[in-house]
Amino acid sequence: MPDFRFTRLEKYKVGGTKGNMELNIPLPKTPSGKVYRWCPNEECTPRLFLLGNAQTPEILEGSRIRRYPGSRGTTCPYCGIDADDDEFNYAGDIRAIQKYIEWATSRDVNDHLQNMARDFNRSQPRGGLVSIKMDFKPDRSPEPRAWREDLIRNLACDTCGREYGVYAIALFCPDCGCNNLHVHFEREIELILQQIGLAEAVAGNGNRELSYRILGNAHEDVLTAFETYQKTAYKHLVRHMFPAEEAQRMTAKRAIGNRFQNVDRATDLYEKLSVNPFCVLTADELELMKLNIEKRHVIGHNLSMTDEAYSYAAAHDMPGTTVDILANQVTAFAQIAKKVVLELEPLV
Ligand SMILES: [Zn+2]
Repeated sequence: MPDFRFTRLEKYKVGGTKGNMELNIPLPKTPSGKVYRWCPNEECTPRLFLLGNAQTPEILEGSRIRRYPGSRGTTCPYCGIDADDDEFNYAGDIRAIQKYIEWATSRDVNDHLQNMARDFNRSQPRGGLVSIKMDFKPDRSPEPRAWREDLIRNLACDTCGREYGVYAIALFCPDCGCNNLHVHFEREIELILQQIGLAEAVAGNGNRELSYRILGNAHEDVLTAFETYQKTAYKHLVRHMFPAEEAQRMTAKRAIGNRFQNVDRATDLYEKLSVNPFCVLTADELELMKLNIEKRHVIGHNLSMTDEAYSYAAAHDMPGTTVDILANQVTAFAQIAKKVVLELEPLV
């Protein structure tokens, strides 16, 4: 095959020879232009995260970066391990690229054979006694395309600007590797503020009951987020400070339970690590936090109706009535929770 060329594959050639090409085939992308990355650490969950295009920041703030943005190397946003970019390849992407190469090779060979058959047929003398025609069935299989979905949470690192997607919560920027717990918690607050806005809009339309329900959910979400962020940071710290077996015992479900929904019980857990992130709060803030946590139990477990079983009810409301939920209280609760999260961040 003297004139044969892999025209489809040659588009991706970055080096090598005609017979031994070095190709750089781009990874499949999500609709927002991100690629899948898969943490090589088998202990890590959920392992999958998405990476957007590299940015070149003008000013790099913060000294906690592990590498210059856009340079080689990746940090897992969940477990924090550092490894070469290639270590983070997603197996499904490798398979997709192999499939593309198989398809492109087959189609290039096919096109070549089709051209050969056409040339052969053209070269045959017409009007002779014997005529030979080469018949060729072309391969029209469509180009294989891998479908990649975006994750719901898309963020940008506030240090290097790199966009990435994760499942709900992560600790690090995959590009510069700095601690990003605050970026994630900031998003939680943003969503809570949007819920409050929604509740106010609904109240403005006269539906006070729905407004009260939305505000109640926003209030609950503050504690759920606060609990999740503390739990994630705590587990990460334990895994780094204790031998594997002990860490496993300390991070087991029954060892943690819902202790992070209670300031005193959470403080007991933090004591094992010789830290106390609540010490950043003033006495008033600590009081407000405890009060809001108590309130959350009334909202979450008793359809917002006060009950003698809850000490909050005994101190503030008549049993059997509904608790007050004010937008500015929800915001204040979220801001106090954020102070504690920010205190935890540099320890991670
Ligand atoms: Zn970054």
